[in-house]
Amino acid sequence: MHTPSHRQRGLVERLDAQAVLCAEGYLFELERRGYLQAGSFVPEVVLDFPEAVVTLHREFVRAGSEVIEALTYYGHREKMRLIGKEDLLEPLQRNALAIAKRVAADFPEASPLVAGNICNTNIWEPQNAAAEAEVRRMFEEQITWAAEAGVDFVIAETFGFYGEARLALEAMQQAQLPAVVTFALHQEGVLRDGVAIEEACQRLEQAGAEVVGLNCTRGPQTMLPYVARIRQAVSCHVAALPVPFRTTPRQPSFQSLQDPGCNLIPEHRPFPTALDPFTCNRYEMAAFAQQAYALNIRYLGGCCGSGPHHIRAMAEALGRHPAASQYSPDMSKHYAFGNHPRLTSLNRAYAETLQRLIR
Ligand SMILES: [Zn+2]
Repeated sequence: MHTPSHRQRGLVERLDAQAVLCAEGYLFELERRGYLQAGSFVPEVVLDFPEAVVTLHREFVRAGSEVIEALTYYGHREKMRLIGKEDLLEPLQRNALAIAKRVAADFPEASPLVAGNICNTNIWEPQNAAAEAEVRRMFEEQITWAAEAGVDFVIAETFGFYGEARLALEAMQQAQLPAVVTFALHQEGVLRDGVAIEEACQRLEQAGAEVVGLNCTRGPQTMLPYVARIRQAVSCHVAALPVPFRTTPRQPSFQSLQDPGCNLIPEHRPFPTALDPFTCNRYEMAAFAQQAYALNIRYLGGCCGSGPHHIRAMAEALGRHPAASQYSPDMSKHYAFGNHPRLTSLNRAYAETLQRLIR
């Protein structure tokens, strides 16, 4: 019997077999690197510095991401209107998709999947027919461009409203593209139109979504309990892509994190540009990947704040050895903390001295 090779298999077949890692968080990483403005968070970088996008896609794939998500997030019509550049909408969208396809072709062995993207439009209002019609048009135009670019599936993400996510699913199904639908669950722990998250995911599964779950907004500690509940509520595949920040039960989202020890932060709100001290290390993200996979949550990754080092650690925690693992840490050759026979006892003894001074 013919067994399709890894490179021929689509998203659901891969998920049926094992976990699939997807790096997200392009906006935050490119903002840090100086190519994107915090606030509007529009990825003009796609047109202004396409090589920066290519580089980051490549870094994430080398780190083990099996999905290249075209950087169309917040490059939708409403955002382009917000920055007064609606005329650049289609060039931005098409360029982002073309870049993703081009990078995928550079990795025939890893054979990453290419995903289109739609997201919260920020004009959705429950029971507002005019808003719904406009949101539908926005989803349809983006999905048309994604389909024409030949994406493998579409990610519809960071929805706060069930109703908007439901409409996104409908648009993806019209184009007959597999759908990953993820919600951003804010502090209340319930969607903004009052729908419980398990209920929302159940309804999307019944409507035909291939993957449902959560991305963004919550860190590993405050996302895991909710995706565990979603896992219990649905039988399709479940997604979990937290932000790599140490959110807590009292401050469960990265927008709500407070840093009272620092009085230098604009408006006293660490989100989005002063979250550094809350950043999870790679081992925490690796632990999350293992914990989620143990619950049979298989579509995994990191969102805003994630860097390639987080993704690589998650890949390794799932038993993978991506290209970047060639440079995974080996402290045995550190001049003072190592144990390689070439290292001098003077330096090793000094490390022990310093260790004793730790208080
Ligand atoms: Zn995010």
